[in-house]
Amino acid sequence: MRLPSGMRQLIKRPIQKKFKSAIPLHSGDSALLSLLGKVISRPGLAEKAFGEGEVFLIKGGMFLSGVKVDPSADEGIGAEWKEDSGQHHYNPSAGLRRPRLSPYAIHMPHGLYSPIYLNPTSPFVLRRDKGDLFLSLEELRLFPVQFERRPNYYSQATSTGVPMHHIGPHRLKRQVLFEYNAYCRYFTDNTQCLFCGIMSERPAHHGHYQSQFVASPTEISEVAVAAYKQDACTELQLTGGVLADRAEVHYFMDVGRAVKEGMGVDTIPGSQAVLVPPQDFRQIEELKESGWQGVAFNLEVWNKGMWPGIVPGKAATITREKWLEAMEFAVGVFGKGQVTSVLVAGLEPKESHLEGLEWMAERGIYGVPIPWSPTPGSSLDGHQTPTAAWHLEVTVKALDIWEKYGLDPDRHSSGGLHYSDLATIRRHWRESQAEEATKSSKHDLRYTLAVEGKLPDL
Ligand code: SF4
Repeated sequence: MRLPSGMRQLIKRPIQKKFKSAIPLHSGDSALLSLLGKVISRPGLAEKAFGEGEVFLIKGGMFLSGVKVDPSADEGIGAEWKEDSGQHHYNPSAGLRRPRLSPYAIHMPHGLYSPIYLNPTSPFVLRRDKGDLFLSLEELRLFPVQFERRPNYYSQATSTGVPMHHIGPHRLKRQVLFEYNAYCRYFTDNTQCLFCGIMSERPAHHGHYQSQFVASPTEISEVAVAAYKQDACTELQLTGGVLADRAEVHYFMDVGRAVKEGMGVDTIPGSQAVLVPPQDFRQIEELKESGWQGVAFNLEVWNKGMWPGIVPGKAATITREKWLEAMEFAVGVFGKGQVTSVLVAGLEPKESHLEGLEWMAERGIYGVPIPWSPTPGSSLDGHQTPTAAWHLEVTVKALDIWEKYGLDPDRHSSGGLHYSDLATIRRHWRESQAEEATKSSKHDLRYTLAVEGKLPDL
């Protein structure tokens, strides 16, 4: 069943408003909309009323507009449902906290999942009605959703008495994230990456291991073991800023050794170390020996001319040529698909961004297109990312590139991300093409979004 055109417009409007489109608002019949919403959002009907493509569009709208959480939805947050414990990367609502606990993420129809970005003025609202949680667009109830469950290790503490989720929050559906500080030395000499807001993040825990790290390797190991054992965490990531004398490189090795010993393995399954490449490539081999399964050397921008301007501290630490050499060297050490570099989508021309993704994919490296979301506290705070249409096109082209080189989009750190959704939607569309009985039209919204890489012409 396809959405009635009036409802499609209603969903489309706040999204397009964010895209700076000039569609005028009109006042609707709120009583009728409310009734209609109650009808279509009934469990069982909602998945038919809203296809995968429609839910993906709504998720995109929520990313851009944020979500308002009605007090009726508060019950169980921090007990049954996972609360936001304060560490986010690329979070447009970083720093915006409610006086009460905030939910972290929701599960949506068709298996889609979305972290919650708070915005008290958003048209999207989470409300509970007779025990069921619903997502509404203003007065129109869209469909039932469910908060993400709180992992068991969130109720545990380390042997030093620190709540485990303050050291290693759970994110991206299956990942335990360790951010060893919210500091980077590039901020002290004004050479920080222009999009980075790490200094405005407030870690939930303020430990001082060796004065620069919020947790010791032993504490991290305890959290990692608990997270993997009880909650089906299958990924681990360690990240943080660049420190004086590159002190973080040895810390990565110490943590790797502590975790692999704690888990009793040679390689920590699903682990990724995120750091600026060491100058001495022997340390890349040492990272592997200390237990890491993969590394992310985030170049951030491919364009040769723009690179030193956008990431001046990184450019002063290591040349671009040596950075690329380090990535190629790391593929030799860790293997195809185990080396990654984020390329922040929207900071450079589309052509050079895609050129970078292709250069990396050819070598078995994931160039990951994370949409630039101007972060509070960054030098580019208040700027505007490109349109959703731009990001959609770039993401779908990235999927084409990965397909060409045999790189699976269901990769490390992809849980609930836009490219993973689009890859799934594309696969489902192809499967429906293969089944003659359910062959879908090329006008299927899934085809438009995930194969053509276009927003629908509604
Ligand atoms: S290296 Fe750049 S992105 Fe990383 S923490 Fe420092 S300023 Fe931020």
